[in-house]
Amino acid sequence: MSTPILLVVIIGSVLGVALLVFAIARGRGKGAGASGGLCPGCRRAMRPEWPRCMFCGWMPVARLEFVLGPLTGQVIELREDVTTVGSVVGNSIVLADPAVSRKHAGIRRMEGGYELADLGSTNGIYVNGHRLPKKNLAPGDVIRVGNSECVFRPQ
Ligand SMILES: [Zn+2]
Repeated sequence: MSTPILLVVIIGSVLGVALLVFAIARGRGKGAGASGGLCPGCRRAMRPEWPRCMFCGWMPVARLEFVLGPLTGQVIELREDVTTVGSVVGNSIVLADPAVSRKHAGIRRMEGGYELADLGSTNGIYVNGHRLPKKNLAPGDVIRVGNSECVFRPQ
């Protein structure tokens, strides 16, 4: 009797096709999400290559997700033209940390992106493990200031 073997082959191929369809559907879903879709400002369709909406000027607000240090677990939106990081009140982000300078770093919002700069700190800023005076931030960049670490999330 070869029926059981045939059955296994049929079930196997059905499962295989189902998995393939599922994987393709997931891939498509991801693509659609990344392409932006509608502008949250004016509800018109945005093209994925636009850094900002060509109709109303809306720009996605990037966030810093703290993964280490006193702000661990907090997500801070970069809504200001310049977000400053330092140890004293008056900075946008205050890090109570002796390794952080009073005015340590700044993140400037520019056309199409964000630029991180060292504002003359004692211990410097590190991006992905490298000490840098300045950096155009890329998605997933890990920024270290003193004993704090945060991840740059553009959207
Ligand atoms: Zn718009």
